[in-house]
Amino acid sequence: MSDCCSAPGLLPFKQALSNMLTQVSPITETLILPIEQALHYVLAQAIASPLNVPPHDNSAMDGYAFKVNCLAESKTLKLVGRSMAGSPFQGTCNPGECIRIMTGAKMPDSCDSVEMQENVSVDGEQITFLQDKTFGSHVRKSGEDIKLNQKVLEQGHSITAVDIGVLASLGVAEVKVYRKLKVALIATGDELKLPGQALRVGDIYESNSFVLAGMLKQLNVEVIDFGIIEDNFESIKSAFISADEQADAVISSGGVSVGDADYTKTVLDELGEIGFWKIAMKPGKPFAFGKLANSVFFGLPGNPVSALVTFHQLALVALTKMQNAEPLKRTHLSVKCVDELRKAPGRMDFQRGILSTNEQGENVVASTGSQGSGILSSLARANCFIILASEQGKVESGEMVSVQLFDQYL
Ligand code: AMP
Ligand code: MG
Repeated sequence: MSDCCSAPGLLPFKQALSNMLTQVSPITETLILPIEQALHYVLAQAIASPLNVPPHDNSAMDGYAFKVNCLAESKTLKLVGRSMAGSPFQGTCNPGECIRIMTGAKMPDSCDSVEMQENVSVDGEQITFLQDKTFGSHVRKSGEDIKLNQKVLEQGHSITAVDIGVLASLGVAEVKVYRKLKVALIATGDELKLPGQALRVGDIYESNSFVLAGMLKQLNVEVIDFGIIEDNFESIKSAFISADEQADAVISSGGVSVGDADYTKTVLDELGEIGFWKIAMKPGKPFAFGKLANSVFFGLPGNPVSALVTFHQLALVALTKMQNAEPLKRTHLSVKCVDELRKAPGRMDFQRGILSTNEQGENVVASTGSQGSGILSSLARANCFIILASEQGKVESGEMVSVQLFDQYL
């Protein structure tokens, strides 16, 4: 695998993404799960409806069912029975007759229309219709929601809570899904401490794994957390070996920039086929990607914003492919930027922005302010990335820019 750090120039973002995607393969193992356990799993089968929904024509109102032609003869019909939800009318409704019907109850085959109870007058068994009706009034047709054999969910779809309801409404009790991906998380750095521990001079709190674990859980991934590994060859090597044995993907943060990258790079050179890339993106220039004996490896930069942006824009896309899910659909909008943005040509910027609607009803984006790659709070305050193309220079206030809305992972 080529070492881009030694190549002149930087690897364009899109090329890095497509290189990575060509090198990851989807998992094949599946399992059958009861629908109530299937939330966020990726479907390994398309689901076609085994029935019409609703299964039979039924009433949309509490009222009276009848044949619309009968009203041409007389506005008063004789009540001969009733159809309740779960207890349909068994007889025949002849010309000149009607039946009492409740919302959701099956339409008798001998009726075609329903009048709501507010529009009739009742005198014992004599029901007088106060208004003209058209054929099929207030009838929900069989299959109007979903038709028999209609495809309802695609293979590769990540199951939502609403989907589980749809599956239940079809009488589907179990689904075939892909197993969860297993992802190992490793934070490298002698300076890192866990929240709750005391900081020595020069220490900082570890935050990357906390955010990454949260984002991975959203992806329905099983996280294997290796915690903080100190910057030395043996510790990093044994953590990477153990992570590779247990996981489909290993994600480390820190140690990929020049200097303290040495251990990580030497270990990875020994264990697998890893490329250290300098990607033309900001934040996030240094990034390692490749293969260990059993797993794929993503080496994120240590700076929190860089780690999370490269994870979100690159690693997450690859993990989605590995879990067989439909490609992520991210929403891009072109909006007016109300701040001046600093930018030098050469790298694609993922600046943190706050998108809002101003008093004129116009969508505008503001900068979160300082864009340093260590300023995690800038990501917390933002609701979108302002994506500026590589060749773009500084942005004047009032210019149109492209924003990508944060998705459920951020
Ligand atoms: P490195 O890539 O290891 O040189 O780290 C770059 C910067 O990110 C340094 O300031 C590190 O202290 C910081 N850093 C590295 N890993 C983490 C982490 N897991 N959480 C928070 N900051 C980190
Ligand atoms: Mg480090």
